[in-house]
Amino acid sequence: MRQGANNQAGLYIHIPFCLSKCPYCAFNSFTPADQDTTAYLNALHLQMCRLATHPQVAKHVFSTIFVGGGTPTIYSAQQLTGLISTALNYFQFTPQPEITVESNPNSLNLELLTSLREAGVNRLSIGVQSFSDKLLVRLGRSHSVSQAENALETARKAGFTNLNIDLMYGLPGQDFEDWRQTLETACQYRPEHLAVYELTVEEKTPFAEMAAGGILDLPNEDVVADMAELTLRVLSGAGFVRYEIANFTQPGKECRHNINYWQNGQYLGLGAGAVSYIMGSRISNICDPGSFARHVKADNDGFCSIECLCREKRFRETVIMGLRMTKGLSLVSLQERFDLDPREYYGSSLRRLQDNHLVEITDDNIYIPARAIAVANQAMKELV
Ligand code: SF4
Repeated sequence: MRQGANNQAGLYIHIPFCLSKCPYCAFNSFTPADQDTTAYLNALHLQMCRLATHPQVAKHVFSTIFVGGGTPTIYSAQQLTGLISTALNYFQFTPQPEITVESNPNSLNLELLTSLREAGVNRLSIGVQSFSDKLLVRLGRSHSVSQAENALETARKAGFTNLNIDLMYGLPGQDFEDWRQTLETACQYRPEHLAVYELTVEEKTPFAEMAAGGILDLPNEDVVADMAELTLRVLSGAGFVRYEIANFTQPGKECRHNINYWQNGQYLGLGAGAVSYIMGSRISNICDPGSFARHVKADNDGFCSIECLCREKRFRETVIMGLRMTKGLSLVSLQERFDLDPREYYGSSLRRLQDNHLVEITDDNIYIPARAIAVANQAMKELV
């Protein structure tokens, strides 16, 4: 693989704090009451400072920053803009980088949003999840529909012209009409981008316990399949294009940061639990925010593991990630990057997937056809 031939990368900054912990959440996030959020922020600045001059990092030019969580907007305007300006000062960037901040509706106000715009943030992602108060309560979310609506209006007032709304379906107590109403309300706000996920019950969460106890009233498989089909219909009708399994965009507003992940490009992850993929190695940071901050403060790198990936593993991961995108992957670029052709590499298992219409291959492309996206996991399991 011509690792290093492309020196572009994405920069991810993880904020592992949320106002409260949602009962379905398996992300690396904690409520701030038990955490030293100032020490954590200082550690992030320190980690950036150290890594920016690391020889393997300094040769990269970054094209995106994604401040994700958790809920980054639990920090003040000054703290967040300070973090972003440190990143912009320490690392090299391409002209006009995409800079995204994730947020929750009840942690946004005009002052914060205006400051973020002035600091160069040009994309805002808002975790709305549902436009039904009844379902937000069932999800254990800490915001209401009216807070979500205010947040969307305030983001526009602050000058954001690239807004993503996160939505979820397949929720306990949700029916088909609830989901239609949420989709249609979301479209009325004319976001540039929508990320639409089916709820998955993750192990070791309160939802998993409720499911095991038979008290999580999830809609049945057929209703969930109808919801997925409705998503495509409503969003296509509103001018959105599906470009990844769960991501829909108005033309030209695809998330560049996430596309880099799906293309298995290089990225640097800062903060607790963040992962980097640089020069063929995967580096994971310590997950616990307090341990991470102490480690970095004590002049250490904050890493907990470094894995050097062999060419075949990088190839398989690139195929799996690339198949998440509706356009799939170019066979020529796979050949150029890895000197491997999926038809030869996977042989009969790929032919079986083709015979079952779960994967299509053209002269130059391998992709999952639209009608098989709902069962994309079947193909991915086979090719991983
Ligand atoms: S807001 Fe998001 S990251 Fe935070 S607890 Fe809820 S689902 Fe998890």
